[in-house]
Amino acid sequence: MSWSDIRGHAVQREMFRRAIRRGRLAHAYLFTGPEGIGKRQFALRLAQSLLCQRASEEAVEFCGECHACKMLAAGTHPDLLLVGRPEGKKELTLEVFVGERERRGREGLCYELYLRPVASDRRIAIIDDTDLMNEESANALLKTLEEPPEKSVLILLSENPNALLPTIRSRCQLVRFFPLSRSDVAELLLEQDVVESREEAERIAALSGGSLAMAARLRDPRYRELFESLHRHLASEESRPLEAAAQINEQLDRLGGDAGQKRRNAHWVVAACVEFYRGALRWLLVQREAGGDSSVEVRIDAAGPERAEVPETVRAFAARFDPGSDDDLDWLIDFLERTMQAEDHLDRNVSVSFCVETLFADLARISRKSPSAV
Ligand SMILES: [Zn+2]
Repeated sequence: MSWSDIRGHAVQREMFRRAIRRGRLAHAYLFTGPEGIGKRQFALRLAQSLLCQRASEEAVEFCGECHACKMLAAGTHPDLLLVGRPEGKKELTLEVFVGERERRGREGLCYELYLRPVASDRRIAIIDDTDLMNEESANALLKTLEEPPEKSVLILLSENPNALLPTIRSRCQLVRFFPLSRSDVAELLLEQDVVESREEAERIAALSGGSLAMAARLRDPRYRELFESLHRHLASEESRPLEAAAQINEQLDRLGGDAGQKRRNAHWVVAACVEFYRGALRWLLVQREAGGDSSVEVRIDAAGPERAEVPETVRAFAARFDPGSDDDLDWLIDFLERTMQAEDHLDRNVSVSFCVETLFADLARISRKSPSAV
């Protein structure tokens, strides 16, 4: 493990360097961002950098050779506490924080965090799956956040910070993590040797939304089928919202998984819709620049200046719009805004199937409001 084997997130690391240099390392951090982008990997490296006996703390770096680093590599450092949802449980339970009933308050994270550090001068806790805390466990954690032990650092990992108690959120310093770039995902897939070829890596990376976890799932053909039918419905000029929503919901159902997984899949679908309309908008803007010359390559992308392929389906959809017309661009932005709203709805725990149904119904309504048809 080293800092160089994680991609992206250089800004976040720099933020920690500055905080440490100014003596402002907080007691609690909330790392947020989609799954599979490296929040946990970052937290582990940060912890190792704080516990390493050789590297200076301010560098946010570790040597990999000292006794502390060796214990961390072996997973036996006594001052690093790692917790998450217990296997077979649906929640991050109270026991994780305060121990089993018969030993309540004499074990668990909240107890261990207050013990004297053994191999360093601080204890660090990384708490995974915080979105899955129930009320009891959230309250137990809240007590610790209210009076954290001296020099301790708690790192909470969350995909959906809206699911946390506001009182927990407000006691943590928020650190936002962003999806990986397309090229980083492709490189990681190749490094991990889970794809057959560079072409496959790039194809999967393009659909992954910057999440390595999503990329891993995309090797399952059912995800690709879902993506293809989604694009077909979005590109189709005759919108049949009921049919489209029913098909997408059915395909989502077929992917299975627990409630958390279903919501992630739905997020991925909605993100794919957002990306569809963004692609169309980019395509139109570039054509507008080029004065209607559609042979130019699109060279701008949200993730950076890398070459962005605009899929055939997106171009077919974009052909309905006149790049020279401001009204048409506004019309396209209506589509985009409605899909971004659906992302918010999913964050606020609206039911997945309802979210998909209302999204397609509204997109069909927007589709009928063509400015040139007035
Ligand atoms: Zn070290």
